[in-house]
Amino acid sequence: MPSPVPREKVQIRLAPGFIDLNWNACYPESREPLDWLKDHPMKLRPRRPFLRLLRTALALAAFVTTISPHLHGALLREYRLFTGTGTSPQTGRTYVVLRQFRFGAATRYLVVNPETLQSGVLDARDLQLSPVPWEAIAKQFEKTPYFKAIRDAEAGARGYENAGLTHFPAPQSGVTLTVDLCPSKKPLDRILFTDLIRAFDKDESPVPVAVALTGVWMEKHGSDLAWLRSLEKSGLISVTWINHSYHHDWNKKLPLKANFLLEKGTDVPSEILRTEAAMLGKGIVPSVFFRFPGLVSDAGLVTTIGNFGLIPVGSDAWLAKNQLPKDGSIVLVHANGNEPIGIRRFLSLLKTERENIVHKHWLLYDLRESAVLLEKRKPASREP
Ligand SMILES: [Zn+2]
Repeated sequence: MPSPVPREKVQIRLAPGFIDLNWNACYPESREPLDWLKDHPMKLRPRRPFLRLLRTALALAAFVTTISPHLHGALLREYRLFTGTGTSPQTGRTYVVLRQFRFGAATRYLVVNPETLQSGVLDARDLQLSPVPWEAIAKQFEKTPYFKAIRDAEAGARGYENAGLTHFPAPQSGVTLTVDLCPSKKPLDRILFTDLIRAFDKDESPVPVAVALTGVWMEKHGSDLAWLRSLEKSGLISVTWINHSYHHDWNKKLPLKANFLLEKGTDVPSEILRTEAAMLGKGIVPSVFFRFPGLVSDAGLVTTIGNFGLIPVGSDAWLAKNQLPKDGSIVLVHANGNEPIGIRRFLSLLKTERENIVHKHWLLYDLRESAVLLEKRKPASREP
């Protein structure tokens, strides 16, 4: 029986100066502010650094040029990659700035605290901004958990499956739960969330859970997404919102090395940025995590999303694939109606651990906090 080590309560607080993105009042759920970005062929998986940077720059220029006309009249527009640092005059805290966009008359930035992996949105008025090339930022913050995680994902990318984070050191028994919402016509498995909240009740509230969103799922499940947001706003769950691509295309006839985001003609920058913009349009702050559709990628793709400031999240416990969770596992279930066995197995796990949950011997862990812990525990000798 593990000893009941008290665990710091998971509280996601935006630092002073952060905007609480309560934009649902601006956007009726039925309104899709980002009805833009038609398919345009652009592939970004080059191997050599110089070509990679050049192609990234060209692709992004093309991306912004292509989408701008379609954004006419939308409230959220000109969503683009931005690399720089920004300091909040109120707190003196310095953030890595990842994206820039316009919202109404305001210019806003998606930022991340490289020590905590907490992301947020800041208005241009609340940020002393310094545009800096990505490589220089990576050098400046190389010892932070954020850049160590990006670097580790790139260094560890092998084969075509399950890149990035797959397991964490658990301070005590428990797992990190990730829930994928791939495109589906079926409703959200709300029982997963209601049972989670019921199981942890006051023992761990809000319950930390990571939800991987696709753009197509968001388009078709406005009321389910609003329901999830209401749980988050009520403080019942604390969500790390993961980008899971916009279309999540796959072809059952193709081998892994040419499937999902690796399929020829896939517009990776669009898949990344369009999903984030759709999240922001719904009042959701994207995290710095990315889940590859099908968990399929290659080394070039891991580098590409790293250049967008994103950390891949895999899993060592995809329950529907009979992978049993261990302490520290990143559990994967689908709550999009397509994987009832995964949901049943997780709910059964909650029942099995009921006594341990009540005595705080078995916990759910916050993805961001777990990633920080993992990187901080790695020996310094690994650093170049
Ligand atoms: Zn998926």
